[in-house]
Amino acid sequence: MSQPASIIEPQISRLDVDQAQQTICNDCTPISGHQQITIREALHRILAEPIHSPINVPAHTNSAVDGYAVQHADLASDTPLTVVGTAWAGQPYDGQLQSGGAVRIMTGAVLPDGTDSVIMQEEVERRGDRITVHGSHKPAENVRQAGEDLSAGGIALAKGKRLQPADMGLLASLGINEIRVFRRLRVAFFSTGDELRSLGQPLARGEIYDSNRYTLLGMLKALDMQVIDLGVVKDNSQSLRQAFEDASREADAIITTGGVSVGEADYIREIMQELGNINFWQIAMKPGRPLAYGHIQDTPLFGLPGNPVAVMITFHQFVKPALLRLAGMDTASTPRRFRVKSQSDFRKKPGRTEYQRAILHTEENGEQTVRSFGRQGSGILRSMSEADCLVVLPKDNDGIKAGDYVEVEPFEGMLS
Ligand code: AMP
Ligand code: MG
Repeated sequence: MSQPASIIEPQISRLDVDQAQQTICNDCTPISGHQQITIREALHRILAEPIHSPINVPAHTNSAVDGYAVQHADLASDTPLTVVGTAWAGQPYDGQLQSGGAVRIMTGAVLPDGTDSVIMQEEVERRGDRITVHGSHKPAENVRQAGEDLSAGGIALAKGKRLQPADMGLLASLGINEIRVFRRLRVAFFSTGDELRSLGQPLARGEIYDSNRYTLLGMLKALDMQVIDLGVVKDNSQSLRQAFEDASREADAIITTGGVSVGEADYIREIMQELGNINFWQIAMKPGRPLAYGHIQDTPLFGLPGNPVAVMITFHQFVKPALLRLAGMDTASTPRRFRVKSQSDFRKKPGRTEYQRAILHTEENGEQTVRSFGRQGSGILRSMSEADCLVVLPKDNDGIKAGDYVEVEPFEGMLS
């Protein structure tokens, strides 16, 4: 079959997982659009500028417990102290404490002038307005110093921080209601493959429902991205060209699934190459070996393999860190890993990094262990649904025996 002159067979490069991660990450720079929002809307948004604290936090030196504010020097003698008043949170004791006196104080109340320590009420015996202090005590005990959390003018939150619930509270504690964040990233995606049908359509022999668009939808929503779902695109030049043009016009990033493996009768590689500057990679990993990455116009494009498990794993390893970077995040977001003892054997050949689905377990002695989910076919989406982590077997590894230690990447937190 003759091909149009503009189409050449793609140059395939072989890469390791970390080389591909590095190349993609170095290539992605944050979008320029910002917007002003209130902190009620701030969850998972990314700061476009640093937040400087306008005040000391805490603003005043105050008590960390319910008890009695005293002068530490007065504790040297065993003489009882006289309670001269009470300091409530929000209702300070305004007098100046003299030697031999004490002030009943509640958590969060401003430390009265003339006192430097707070004795917990459990360590005090009170009779009428006299108290006796038991035990030995350090100076400044149970006192939170003004500015110990943050000093006025200091950086409370850095540019590029993806905001969590604690950050929303922190901003409120500084009296800040409005912040500048990156606008949300717009991500377009579509599935390719003549065998795919959308939901609601009947299946003919050999046809399957398109599931990749729904896993992608879920993963993108979990990252708080704006999604542009372009549906199932037929394996023909005209529809593919149209889809790529629409996607690069409307979106900050494009994700496709299917049609990137070599030797397939798919048009997608040809069109990608014709419309953009795309690298075709064979990554030394399983699942997820073929991957295309590059740009259509100026829009980054991730061409993921079609297998449903490979889609999730390549998204996790390559696409998620890149999207968060494009969205403005400053710190690297490569998946969290830790070592645990394996209860199962894992079969593996050297030469590629493998991501096997597995289930974590906490033993009676508190130790975390992991066991294989079982069947590891890259089309078995149920393995991702029922497993709760990936066991990452390094490139040179040639198999694991029960009792060996392995590295795991938990799903929890992985896709959000
Ligand atoms: P491909 O990468 O196009 O060769 O596809 C590899 C395998 O994944 C084939 O069995 C496809 O039928 C399947 N596949 C491709 N795209 C999808 C999709 N969107 N949903 C479910 N399975 C798919
Ligand atoms: Mg295909």
